[in-house]
Amino acid sequence: MIPYGRQNITEADIAAVVDVLKSDFLTQGPKVPAFEAALAKRAGARHAVVVNSATSALHIACEALGLGRGDILWTSPITFVASANCARYCGADVDFVDIDAETFNLSPRKLEEKLQQASKLGKLPKIIVAVHMCGQSCDMAAIGALARTYGVKVIEDASHAVGGLNDGAPVGNCAWSDITVFSFHPVKIITTAEGGAALTNNAELARRMERLRSHGITRDPSEMTGPPDGGWYYQQVELGWNYRMTELQAALGLSQLDLLERSVSKRHQIAQRYDMLLANAAVALPGRAPHAHSALHLYVIRVQDGTIRKSVYDAMRSAGIGVNVHYIPVHLQPYYRALGFKAGDFPVAEDYYARAISLPMFPELTEVEQDHVVATLKQAVQ
Ligand SMILES: *Cc1c(COP(=O)(O)O)cnc(C)c1O
Repeated sequence: MIPYGRQNITEADIAAVVDVLKSDFLTQGPKVPAFEAALAKRAGARHAVVVNSATSALHIACEALGLGRGDILWTSPITFVASANCARYCGADVDFVDIDAETFNLSPRKLEEKLQQASKLGKLPKIIVAVHMCGQSCDMAAIGALARTYGVKVIEDASHAVGGLNDGAPVGNCAWSDITVFSFHPVKIITTAEGGAALTNNAELARRMERLRSHGITRDPSEMTGPPDGGWYYQQVELGWNYRMTELQAALGLSQLDLLERSVSKRHQIAQRYDMLLANAAVALPGRAPHAHSALHLYVIRVQDGTIRKSVYDAMRSAGIGVNVHYIPVHLQPYYRALGFKAGDFPVAEDYYARAISLPMFPELTEVEQDHVVATLKQAVQ
């Protein structure tokens, strides 16, 4: 089966992990801060806090921004459930903003309309989670300007977009957001097996997230309620979790950063070839936003009519092609339906879902494999 996404692990990656296994620290050693420094530098942010998943990063990002009971978080319905669940961990409510039909990202126009209405009703969200679907950055200048006007915080869920650009600058620089979250799950652009990061330019937010990832414990006397009892002393000053990344993961991440540029450029070669080979096929190709240079985590085509999506999916699977669908709209998940959402609430997202298929997209995909994907797809949509 040709998968839709696959990690690329080099001999250098393996050696880096083995070195850590032979070292003094398997966790809480020097590799985590080294990976954080390298990530922050690469993304153009002042601080990076690495954790055991992007889901954990989203959770501590919401906590650090003060999200709690009675607050509302808005995100896109076309995302992985974690982009919304982070609000629920904090006891907050979730609502969604429909997507743009061409980029599959949260639509700034619909966001503006919804903010105007919410402002009149006194029900503005505390946080907007802007998801960079498929690796293509949202229009952050537009979203960021709206958020500033209405006094709303912004988290970028850049799980798909490590290595992408927005307005010519790296995704993760937080030019228009408070915090940007990365995922290092194996299907994403670079991997630490499981892992994630929260980047920010705000030193206080970074410090708060560091504490939240490790039980809410501090060893810094300036954060304690009184002088320390002695050299051994620490205080738990708030409730946190154990969301730490291990040294093995951080060493793998550091080594994988060397592959990032090549991974994104290979993905662009593959996407251009799909664009060319599928130009006359009965499918809609993914739209490109002029402000973004996508990291191309996913290449999503849409069949013309939702009634054939299942048969196209099944035909490709039978031909050994591990196509997938990203994503089932979050508001239609039973958990969110039970909170009051229903079919019809976000029609552009629902039409997208009915027709979407993710084709294989990873740097090691060969031209022979890609030709097989294209030929099978063309036959299936006829
Ligand atoms: C993968 C993903 C996540 C969660 O990442 P984990 O590292 O697996 O927790 C969150 N948001 C989006 C958009 C994702 O694709």
